[in-house]
Amino acid sequence: MGGNKTTGGRRCGLAIPGLAVAALTIAQGGPGITALGPVRRRLFRGLAGYGDPGHVALTFDDGPDARSTAGFLDLLARRDIRATFFMLGSMVAAAPGLAAEVAAAGHEIAVHGWDHRYLTLRGPQDTFRDMARAREVIAETTGQVPVYVRPPYGVLSGGALLAAGRLGLRPLLWTCWGREWAPGATSGSVVRTLRRDLGGGATVLLHDSDATSPSGSARAALGALPWLLDECARRGLKAGPAAGHGLGRAGAIRAEAGAWQGNAGLGGNRDSDPAPPGPREGAGPTGQAKRDRAVPHAGEDSADDAAAQDHRQNEHDRGHGHPGQ
Ligand SMILES: [Zn+2]
Repeated sequence: MGGNKTTGGRRCGLAIPGLAVAALTIAQGGPGITALGPVRRRLFRGLAGYGDPGHVALTFDDGPDARSTAGFLDLLARRDIRATFFMLGSMVAAAPGLAAEVAAAGHEIAVHGWDHRYLTLRGPQDTFRDMARAREVIAETTGQVPVYVRPPYGVLSGGALLAAGRLGLRPLLWTCWGREWAPGATSGSVVRTLRRDLGGGATVLLHDSDATSPSGSARAALGALPWLLDECARRGLKAGPAAGHGLGRAGAIRAEAGAWQGNAGLGGNRDSDPAPPGPREGAGPTGQAKRDRAVPHAGEDSADDAAAQDHRQNEHDRGHGHPGQ
């Protein structure tokens, strides 16, 4: 079932000049800017994962995790649905058999980095080494050449864009999420959060691991997944991996970056992510996870608050409520 042993790496490689231009441009706008929901969705539609309006891309971050990923695989297999798993290289190294199992089940494998750290804290060389190491272990372990990369916390630094270009990886963030990593999240809260921004063409982010978030978050995500799949079906939307999402040419990022540059008055670094405690070099996933718990997805949280505000404004502009709310 390794049907997507992929030629996508070559496809992405064609976009390297575009990515390089984008890297230079986005770096001027501030390294944390792509973590912002409203800005990302207005000006970086490709990065935000807007694709085929009849399709929803399902993506899962932070695994593979022996404690939780199997539940996602079982449910997706029962529904005969494939997804994209953005894996951490450190997690793949800790559970290579499981990573291979995800790929063998027909899912697309993508890169989330080696360690779960803010790339803004790392220099360009360190960022490249982290991404390259993750890509290599994923390719060796799963037999897939990854096409997409999603940096931790969605913070896409200029160094990360350059590294992605050199490695033939296409950056992909998300349109819609469940915030299962927030303290106290439940399946119900995940459903309510997903419902806000779910729509045709969305890229949905959930986590199949608690490695970088409070215990129980993957369970909350898994509990919400049946609703998500049912809701997509009810709306006539086909759920599947990023590979089938119709994301178009990677070079389109250049136009998005140009749009961002033209809107630099939106604030640059104003809403950048708060800096987490200083990382320690050479840490494995366990140590890293403990540090990250001190600031679980802090940048994503602030981005989501802004996204909620943005959503309310959109609803106001359209003059009607969101279906089902
Ligand atoms: Zn993550």
